[in-house]
Amino acid sequence: MSSRIELKKKVIVVGAGIAGIAAARELYKHDLFDVVILEASNRAGGRMFTGNIDNTPVEFGATFIHGAGEHNAIYQLAKYYGKATGIDGISPAILKHSDDIEGTNNSSTWASMYNDLYSYLDAEFTKCFSGNALKTPPYVKSMFYTFVNWLTISEGGDHCRGIGINGSYRNLPGDREARFENIYSYGYLIQKLVDTLPDCIHYNSEVLSINTENSSALITCKNGCQYEADHVIVTVPLGVLKKRCLYENLSPNKQLLFIPALPAEKQIAIRSIGFAQVGKIVLQFDQEVTSKYKLIPLMILWRPDDKHDPVINKKFPWATELFLLERIQNSNLYESWVTGSAVACVEQASKEEIIEAFTYILNKAFKHHIPNIVDVHMHKWQSDPLFNGCYTVHLADVNTSANITKLREPLNNNQVLFAGEATTEEYYSTVHGAYLTGIREAKRLTEIKKLFT
Ligand SMILES: Cc1cc2nc3c(=O)[nH]c(=O)nc-3n(C[C@H](O)[C@H](O)[C@H](O)COP(=O)(O)OP(=O)(O)OC[C@H]3O[C@@H](n4cnc5c(N)ncnc54)[C@H](O)[C@@H]3O)c2cc1C
Repeated sequence: MSSRIELKKKVIVVGAGIAGIAAARELYKHDLFDVVILEASNRAGGRMFTGNIDNTPVEFGATFIHGAGEHNAIYQLAKYYGKATGIDGISPAILKHSDDIEGTNNSSTWASMYNDLYSYLDAEFTKCFSGNALKTPPYVKSMFYTFVNWLTISEGGDHCRGIGINGSYRNLPGDREARFENIYSYGYLIQKLVDTLPDCIHYNSEVLSINTENSSALITCKNGCQYEADHVIVTVPLGVLKKRCLYENLSPNKQLLFIPALPAEKQIAIRSIGFAQVGKIVLQFDQEVTSKYKLIPLMILWRPDDKHDPVINKKFPWATELFLLERIQNSNLYESWVTGSAVACVEQASKEEIIEAFTYILNKAFKHHIPNIVDVHMHKWQSDPLFNGCYTVHLADVNTSANITKLREPLNNNQVLFAGEATTEEYYSTVHGAYLTGIREAKRLTEIKKLFT
């Protein structure tokens, strides 16, 4: 027994998001490693972050299961843990399915002649209206811009012009946008997964540096703790790698995450891969608004003149980027999304300013009175230094797949391994993708370990 313990290698996992949790679960299966997860915040889940507002679970981060079907590991886990609590089956008790069931298998069928998503959409739009912009009714253009906004958010870019078309992302078959329902949520799922682990997560343990100058890596945390490890699995978001591994982005009072600095090719990969900025705003009304006030899921179409509204322009110009208001379950809560430069504005705005902006827009859109918005809830992903943004995006003119391959290559003979949503060529920007990367890196270690024992 004691010789077995001596043989165990020490693994530090940095980050308790789904990738870190998946890696630790996989490593524990084999009883070959001592595993500690170092998590900077006081909770697990990272970008899976469910709040509770008046007993309604509210997703501030990941919301959908993209490709809810047999091939999706997260769908399988949701189904398993739903059953484990006595609820039979995943739908409709756990997931709400969208109407869109079958996915295509990637974007490569999209016209490869276009460099970016906007050029493609614009060309298609022009084709539909015989190229005569003057004859195009204004609301059609408004619909087009709303659609562009919606796609920008789901793809995750500052603007459709910057988003590439022929990425390596693969849609899994199955419902493309299934949501958790009732008490179920991404937060519920992550808690179930954490419960399967021994007490190995050290919260409030932000890693300041990973020193790999010796054969044993030395990890130093902000709280003063230090750890030695044979292997380190790094799962911090790409936004953190961008800020903490590139000299040009380093704040004056911060040090590089890696000592020595990452090799040049890894730095190039980190610099090149896009990281989307998205803002999700949750509005709380003082009463039920859907049936009485007909505030059903709302698509906001901006006519050209609306964009020049003096009040909007003076007080909240970012509001013209708003385009959707969608009810959360059967509550008085509605969620809205923004992207691009509007994200920074929304994150800096006070609650009162956001309430004023939405109230103004709703009063403009509806002839009748809309109940009061009493509160605003959101997580500020862009300003949170543990994320610095939301998810990976395939940018035009960038070979995302090749850069991801470089990013995920282990360093120093598997002393440092890289997992997390930005390290999968096929499923970046998703929970299921992040989960698979954690398993991938844990398996890399278990396979090596098995060879030598
Ligand atoms: C607004 C939003 C909407 C989204 N919508 C969807 C969706 O609908 N469907 C979907 O599939 N995906 C969605 N995603 C993406 C999905 O949430 C992520 O791809 C996935 O959760 C990433 O998991 P991860 O483990 O790679 O990273 P994370 O969840 O980010 O985990 C990384 C962890 O590292 C920690 N950390 C950071 N720095 C340090 C440090 N120095 N030391 C220690 N710990 C550190 C962080 O606190 C965090 O807990 C969304 C994301 C956001 C933000």
